[in-house]
Amino acid sequence: MTAVTRPAVKTPLHFIGGQFVPSVSGATFDVVDPATEALTTRASQGQAADIDAAVAAAKARFDDGAWSRAKASFRRKVLFRVADLIEQRSEEIIALQSLEMGGPIGPPHNGPHPMIERSAWNFRFFAEEQELAGNHAFNRDDSLLTYTMCDAAGVFGLITPWNGPFMLSTWKMAPCLAYGNSAVHKPSELSPLSIRILCEIFEEAGMPSGVYNMVLGYGQEAGIPLVEHPDVTGVSFTGSPGTARDIAARCAPRLKRTSFELGGKSANIIFADADLKKAIPAAAMSIFMNAGQACIAGSRILVQRPIYEAFLKGFEEAAAQWKSGDPFDRTTRLGPLVAKRQYDRVINYLTIARDEGRVLFGGGRPEGLDKGYFVAPTAIVDVTNSARVCQEEIFGPVAVIMPFDTTEEALAIANDSSYGLAGYIWTQSQTTAHYVSHRLQTGMIWINAGFDRDLRQPFGGMKNSGLGREGGGLSREFYTETRFASFPLTPR
Ligand code: NAD
Repeated sequence: MTAVTRPAVKTPLHFIGGQFVPSVSGATFDVVDPATEALTTRASQGQAADIDAAVAAAKARFDDGAWSRAKASFRRKVLFRVADLIEQRSEEIIALQSLEMGGPIGPPHNGPHPMIERSAWNFRFFAEEQELAGNHAFNRDDSLLTYTMCDAAGVFGLITPWNGPFMLSTWKMAPCLAYGNSAVHKPSELSPLSIRILCEIFEEAGMPSGVYNMVLGYGQEAGIPLVEHPDVTGVSFTGSPGTARDIAARCAPRLKRTSFELGGKSANIIFADADLKKAIPAAAMSIFMNAGQACIAGSRILVQRPIYEAFLKGFEEAAAQWKSGDPFDRTTRLGPLVAKRQYDRVINYLTIARDEGRVLFGGGRPEGLDKGYFVAPTAIVDVTNSARVCQEEIFGPVAVIMPFDTTEEALAIANDSSYGLAGYIWTQSQTTAHYVSHRLQTGMIWINAGFDRDLRQPFGGMKNSGLGREGGGLSREFYTETRFASFPLTPR
């Protein structure tokens, strides 16, 4: 048997001051299984009153200092315990995440799922960073000593998307909490299930109640009141550029700090000297993993002309390995899209693609899957980079593939984008890799490799792909107030 039973679901409630609570108004919204289109449960639908309660709990805890002024060693201890508990509950988290957003559970793992390991690592990394990085001291002319202090800044609003609901939430939460802040988290309305486990884990790990609070619901009803709340110091947001603009406009008059991790239309540049045995499966992984619902997806594949035809043939063969199906079948590699609205959006782009170019393979529902928001792995060719399907983020398992002749042409195509998140380069030449890395207008570049992470890396994008970077010391800068105290060393 390769099928796994769908998990039991507890009613999704808000988590405020250490308690699971329904909405003040009693309102709920439907949570739908994207693979079957059946109703899974109804989740509490947060509004301004719920946000007010969550911010009040977060602020009271921040002000009393039980976490914000606690010893760094205490925070490290609690966060390490959080990481251990996340790993212990790996299977539960993965199953709930599959149910909420359709990602395949995949084959059994010897130990925690890689996505869970990464989530736990986020907590361990920042638990140590906040304790070990230390402050600076400056001595000017042996007469003036200055030392810096990095203190928790206040209550942060953390707003996250649905495409990696658990891990992406921990990526924001870990630094925010590690540096002593309190948080009010608003997960996506499309993925309100797996986050409950993290709330339970925080309690069990001994994090003081009220440090982390979570309100479910829609952006308009719960996101906006959170962003605008006078007791929220800053907002860290991952999602689409349009929402980021709205948040920025609301934060500007209040001079709140913001960090934005946004979308992408990243180029995967494959030079004629590339090792195609590695480049082709990696190109397929980059666009078909998570059904293409990844900000860093290599959605524009640029292939040097001498290997263009060979690449197309190999890529179609690689795509055939991405079997669509029920996410609870361990052999499935491509699950459904998250929701009907995302399915309709991708299907609309496939109609546009037929006008702008040619569908090489895929282009609609996979055979035999009549229910659920499934789209088959798809490749579009014979398009120019100005086409909408080359410029706009489709966020589905849809690659556009374009040939190029020279390095300069590849760079011109890659950089002709309003986005600038990631770039991928496949070549045996270090000179080419180095040259192209310097000229690609993206925040992140991977050479002869797929996505891999060092948590000290400055994660983020250029242009419409983001504002600010998070990771290592950059997260410390965002989530703390850096101040100094200065005094003379000699009599004045
Ligand atoms: P989205 O912008 O629609 O929503 C993201 C979150 O913002 C959700 O929780 C939503 O409820 C909330 N929201 C919506 N309107 C709001 C408002 N006016 N004020 C406050 N909150 C509001 O994005 P999405 O569709 O959930 O996610 C997909 C997008 O996220 C894609 O563009 C993807 O590339 C991007 N993304 C970026 C990264 C990254 O690290 N760069 C990672 C994952 C996803």
